[in-house]
Amino acid sequence: MTAYLDTTNGQPYCKGCGHPHVLDALDHALQAAGVPPHRIALVTDIGCVGLADAQFPTLHTVHSLHGRAAALATGMQLAAGTDGDEPLKPVVLVGDGGSTIGLLHLVHAAQLDVDVTVLVHNNLIYGMTGGQHSGLTPHGFRTTTTPDGCLTPPLDLGRVLAGAGCGYFARARAPSNELGELLAEGIRRPGFACVEALELCPTFAARIGGMTGKGLREMTSEGGLAMGVLERREPRAGPVRRGNGDPAPALFGAGIAPEPTWSRLQRPVQLVVAGRAGERVQSAAKLAAVAGAAAGLGATLRTDNPVTQGRGFSVAELTLSPEAVRYTGLDRPDIAIATAPEGLAQLAQRGLLAGPLAAHRIVCDESLEPPAEAHVERAPLRKRHGGAAAALGAVLEAVDAAGWFDPRAWEVAIQARPEAQRASVRRTLAKAGVSVRAARGRRSCG
Ligand code: SF4
Repeated sequence: MTAYLDTTNGQPYCKGCGHPHVLDALDHALQAAGVPPHRIALVTDIGCVGLADAQFPTLHTVHSLHGRAAALATGMQLAAGTDGDEPLKPVVLVGDGGSTIGLLHLVHAAQLDVDVTVLVHNNLIYGMTGGQHSGLTPHGFRTTTTPDGCLTPPLDLGRVLAGAGCGYFARARAPSNELGELLAEGIRRPGFACVEALELCPTFAARIGGMTGKGLREMTSEGGLAMGVLERREPRAGPVRRGNGDPAPALFGAGIAPEPTWSRLQRPVQLVVAGRAGERVQSAAKLAAVAGAAAGLGATLRTDNPVTQGRGFSVAELTLSPEAVRYTGLDRPDIAIATAPEGLAQLAQRGLLAGPLAAHRIVCDESLEPPAEAHVERAPLRKRHGGAAAALGAVLEAVDAAGWFDPRAWEVAIQARPEAQRASVRRTLAKAGVSVRAARGRRSCG
């Protein structure tokens, strides 16, 4: 099998660094695991470990933020799902520093048992940033930030992740024959796996801390760090698993499926609704997003409000598209709605009332005073629906008038709401004059 690791231009690491040994083991494991190269994604963290991207020129690589590689890989795996029978297999390369900065991301990935393999390069210190101690630094070990020895005991990553339900955890030294084999087993597992490679950073762990290869061996044999496979469990079946034929997360509840024939859109459309915090502005837009998704549309929602939830403005930006939404930013919206002065001020501040970004259709509650140059339709939104339901009523009316999808999709979105909220939404729907029966003969629009 062809090697993925390409060292024809040399290695970028310091002389004697353990990273090249870990990458050799990774190369062996990727080949042994038999994952098609186009379904492998290496997700690297910040640090010397991140230099691995360029060493694997034939694979997908993503360079992440410090500590966030596991979170990014988890999202990638869940979003990408399968290509035929082939799941995306992200392999996260992270140091001991990134592991402890992003510890909860590792914990969460283990809890989800998502199909991601994490390879921890544990050389006991932060290498690239200057030899500082990390959460995995041994007690008493000298680093640039603990010149008299690290004050705290090291986290045992295996035990931490075992407590989170980790399906596979193994530890080996680098270099060693076991490392590649253990890693291959982790990669083959259709769920979360973590392999910790113990290795040497000659520049800091050896020079400052006095660590040697012999010291590493003693640390694992005498220091209580168990080696080999420490956790091995069956993959959990569950709604979060993607990429092995299990269902996607349920959006609509049991027995309700999206109906793509309900879409009426030929192009992406956008709606902005702005009002007063606490008046369910964002949940109104969310109902439209879920209804759009129920009609088989791509749907995204961006929301904004001040820190508190009950004072000031509340804004929601909805995008619906016949294709998946690749860009969630606001262009020139098709519809902008203001239900309260706080919302009107936000629309003005964002340039959506007048000028080149002005929405094509602007609807304001009749009590508001929009700028004279804005072309606004005024409607008794608050009088008709009450303050708390003005945004919902306005969104229902505007989307129904635009005919973006078959109104039966509203009922699917209502079913996705908690039962206690459904009756009031249906009342608003009736007041808005929206019939959830099939709308016959509607033209495509957008
Ligand atoms: S600083 Fe340490 S971890 Fe980074 S390349 Fe040099 S030896 Fe390796």
